[in-house]
Amino acid sequence: MSTATTGIHHVTAISGDPQRNVDFYVGVLGLRLVKKTVNFDDPETYHLYYGDGAGSPGTIMTFFPWGNAPLGLQGTGQLTVTTFSVPADSLGYWTQRLIDSGIRFEKPEQRFDDTVLSFADPDGMRLEIIAASDEDREPWPSATVPAEHAVRGFHHVTLSERDPERTAKLMTEHLGFRSVIDGDGRYRFEAEDGGPGNLVDVVDGSSESRGRMGVATVHHVAFRATDDDHLQEIRSEVAGLGYNITPVLDRNYFHSIYFREPGGVLFEIATDPPGFAADEDPSELGTHLKLPPWLEKRRGQLEEVLPPLRVPTGGDV
Ligand code: ZN
Repeated sequence: MSTATTGIHHVTAISGDPQRNVDFYVGVLGLRLVKKTVNFDDPETYHLYYGDGAGSPGTIMTFFPWGNAPLGLQGTGQLTVTTFSVPADSLGYWTQRLIDSGIRFEKPEQRFDDTVLSFADPDGMRLEIIAASDEDREPWPSATVPAEHAVRGFHHVTLSERDPERTAKLMTEHLGFRSVIDGDGRYRFEAEDGGPGNLVDVVDGSSESRGRMGVATVHHVAFRATDDDHLQEIRSEVAGLGYNITPVLDRNYFHSIYFREPGGVLFEIATDPPGFAADEDPSELGTHLKLPPWLEKRRGQLEEVLPPLRVPTGGDV
């Protein structure tokens, strides 16, 4: 068994109002709400998971909606930009869709071989859509976006680092990433077979302010482990380097460990199994409030305090 991660598993961020979050990620981006649960460490707030139809690793964007909590600061020591992938010929569709949705975006920019649209979610968190020449993942027939143009999952994430080399060393020497290409202060790494969903860009953020946690910032990025044995292998490797690393935690849909990489970004390693169908039929993902066994006894009280959410279905927005 190797200590190499097999790609991006999920990205977790902090948002403001949960309904506004659902309206944007389902209604505008066309992702599927694949799990409606609570923050296990703060069960009176939601934990919302979006992804493709099945909630496949490499497609999962999750949020802790903190309501009216203060905005954070997006800056160095954080994952500063999350980039979603669409097919190369869908750029025109997405440009028009952002215009129709009243979302401002920057002039399309070329990044290595692909074209990137930069914009922000309703809280101001930085996102991108990339028209990827090598995107071949199956689309999910979303209620709001035609399958041919659907977001296929992540393309890459961008880590802003004071000292990109220290982060790169951890990733390449211990987590199995390989250097692919670099230019303009951006260093791209790939896991496993590379391609969309397996890419991490590290940028030199030494001239940026240090990021601060709050609404509109990313809390952590999770990378994939194939199973519990693989997770333990990675844990031993990272612990052996002297990192402060959590024990294996049961996140119901995956098992996880967490540690901070040298620049301050919180890394999680999460297993692919058991996945989001563990407690909900695949056809009904995201339609019920799901609680882990230890919180079921509080269901009545939690249903009282959590605001009801309406999921856009395409016909009613
Ligand atoms: Zn996570």
